Amino acid sequence: MRYIISLLLASLALPTSLALPSWAEVPKVMTDIPPVHALVSQVMGDLGRPELLLERGASEHDFQLRPSQAAALADAGLVVWIGPELTPWLDRALEGSGEARAQLPLLAVPGTLTRAYADDGAHMAEEGHDDHGHDDHGHEKGHDHSGTDPHAWLDPANAKAWLGAIAAELARIDPDNAATYAANATTAVAGIDQLDADLTARFATLKDKPVVVFHDAYGYLADHYGLHIFGSIALGDATAPGAARLSELRDAAAGGAVLCVFPEAQHDPKLAEQLAEGSGAALGPALDPNGSTLEPGPGLYAALLTGLADAMTSCAAP
Ligand SMILES: [Zn+2]
Repeated sequence: MRYIISLLLASLALPTSLALPSWAEVPKVMTDIPPVHALVSQVMGDLGRPELLLERGASEHDFQLRPSQAAALADAGLVVWIGPELTPWLDRALEGSGEARAQLPLLAVPGTLTRAYADDGAHMAEEGHDDHGHDDHGHEKGHDHSGTDPHAWLDPANAKAWLGAIAAELARIDPDNAATYAANATTAVAGIDQLDADLTARFATLKDKPVVVFHDAYGYLADHYGLHIFGSIALGDATAPGAARLSELRDAAAGGAVLCVFPEAQHDPKLAEQLAEGSGAALGPALDPNGSTLEPGPGLYAALLTGLADAMTSCAAP
């Protein structure tokens, strides 16, 4: 009996006798889209790897969680995501999963630069839709596209603000590793500064050249780098455009008003092809604004923006 008790005490003592390494406290982190996963990966560094919900080639606007993903979400110690403005599907899942959980919706982080969706661009403004807020003249598309544009990761200044917020939130949950999170975030901010300087030089070749994109996702990129988005085929939520919108865009883009039309990796290129053909604009390579065709990991954020610069400037080259 004495032997059994001492054995029991020994086994009880075992966990504390093995000094707990600090990584035992690192939370399981779930992220929504690849660029957010990349920023969290940079902050966590060697301490751990966040999980990613959005799958290869998927659109951020139209995604359905598999049961295994819902279970992983329920199990997460921290959810870092853009916010309900981008992914209502994740908002519903978070509500449905019940108990309060640490979450960091990045659009709500202080210092985040947000922009409202523009009106439908130059071609729609001609129609006098300049007061599109909460009036009731309605849109032929049948839904509202005013409000905050959630594609805020495409402004590198936001990525920098978010790195600090991610480090602070991880430090709050896992104070033992606070210094590591902070140091990793500082390194990542320096990396984005360098990337930004490089991209500023590259996007200068496209400055003020009118281009058409597939969905209204590039306002932050355009504001930051001085690009001229002439219009978008689909609205910011990437729902299929109506015939009236398409013909209006085609008319406005006719006669060389637009340099390039860019399809998107997550969507059928057919409409972009038709618009390019009908307007005489060049058909550019497919853009990947959410990075879902890229290899997830810490380097994805830079790869995403560099990929956009490669694709967009290639079409603008003489
Ligand atoms: Zn989008």
